[in-house]
Amino acid sequence: MISSLSHAQTQLVDEVTSFLREQLPEDLSARVKRGVHIGRHELTRWVGVLDRQGWAVPHWPKEHGGTGWSLVERQLFENAMREAHAPTLPGFGVNMVGPAIIRFGTPEQKANYLPRIKRGELWWCQGYSEPEAGSDLASLRTRAERHGDHYRVNGRKIWTSGAEDADWIFCLVRTDPVVQPQKGISFLLVDLKSPGIDVTPLVAFNGKRLWNQVFFRDVEVPVEQRLGAENEGWSVAKTLLGDERLLVSRVAENRRIHTLVNEALADVRVTQGKETDLQAMHGKRDQLRIRLSALETTSLRLLMLADEGIRIGAEPSMLKLRGSQLVQAQDELLSELAGHWLVPLDSGDQNDPVGPAWTEYTASGTFHHRGFTIAGGATEVQKNIIAKEVLGL
Ligand SMILES: Cc1cc2nc3c(=O)[nH]c(=O)nc-3n(C[C@H](O)[C@H](O)[C@H](O)COP(=O)(O)OP(=O)(O)OC[C@H]3O[C@@H](n4cnc5c(N)ncnc54)[C@H](O)[C@@H]3O)c2cc1C
Repeated sequence: MISSLSHAQTQLVDEVTSFLREQLPEDLSARVKRGVHIGRHELTRWVGVLDRQGWAVPHWPKEHGGTGWSLVERQLFENAMREAHAPTLPGFGVNMVGPAIIRFGTPEQKANYLPRIKRGELWWCQGYSEPEAGSDLASLRTRAERHGDHYRVNGRKIWTSGAEDADWIFCLVRTDPVVQPQKGISFLLVDLKSPGIDVTPLVAFNGKRLWNQVFFRDVEVPVEQRLGAENEGWSVAKTLLGDERLLVSRVAENRRIHTLVNEALADVRVTQGKETDLQAMHGKRDQLRIRLSALETTSLRLLMLADEGIRIGAEPSMLKLRGSQLVQAQDELLSELAGHWLVPLDSGDQNDPVGPAWTEYTASGTFHHRGFTIAGGATEVQKNIIAKEVLGL
């Protein structure tokens, strides 16, 4: 598939690769490779480097500082970034609420939020899920009552990733409890420093703070912080991802993890030298490489069709399924290779690994990536979409 890239696309890959070679600090990529948490200060510096190159928000329209790249070009950019172990940017602002503000925002909202998101100065988190509203999101209950020029918000959001680092949260709230569920929802932009907001950690089984709960008690949100019309938040949320839903295959992340699998195999040969086991491991690696190649080819084919304006149906659900499952399969092989080295790891970011550096990534990656088959639409929900769209069930 790579051979069917145009000359301009191949040139873009070369340009991004040489930019990364010159501009990506080695210590930063080394820590990304090891799975160490990269703090806000450093990420903001990296956003600054990308911004100077014009690549901080590549998918935004040119008038807002984007590049005008096609979907295929965006995927190629992402592949090169991940393969070089560049840090992933805080996506809720750049990938989610930013494009939504571009599409639905008032001129004032655009001027207020977009430049700060682009410069990495304003961090966001996503307040959709609630204890009784996950896959069935339309049943959400967090209530926003209108009082003159502001809403009073009461309720609770859960599984809110990154709220501990975020400045603002974008929320789906119920503004009309009487009408059909989807019709009574609005989309609010809320400053997390507003009085009445409480962010509490949710710690995963590996002892890390992976999510938060966000409580709202009589929080006053000015009406001008609503995105889109009142009671039309569901439409904002549905179109919010836009083209992003086509880039769900995790090809870039899978390519990155595959470089670690190769590194681990070479390393294990040196350090453990169990030849019979190794042959089996090499076989597993080859099967994973075939799956990766199929995923990448299918994903690029789909993106090329979308770039030509052809309507895409259930394919993103298939790619989401395959991509998240492949990440986990690669993690499993890495875990097998790491063996006993896995045990003392994932205990925090400060400790040096006791085994080779790739084993540190293996521990944190394996635990964290279990959530990939749930986040962004659980596996069963994706299968329902495929059953309906493809099989007509
Ligand atoms: C790593 C991670 C990060 C997340 N970050 C955020 C975030 O930042 N902001 C946010 O708002 N949310 C976030 N979430 C929450 C996520 O969106 C929800 O977990 C997801 O929507 C599923 O909802 P639920 O957990 O309530 O499970 P449920 O919807 O209760 O599902 C439970 C089980 O039932 C299955 N199921 C549900 N409906 C059906 C059906 N119709 N047919 C067949 N099976 C079904 C599901 O597949 C699942 O196995 C995150 C989740 C994870 C794992």
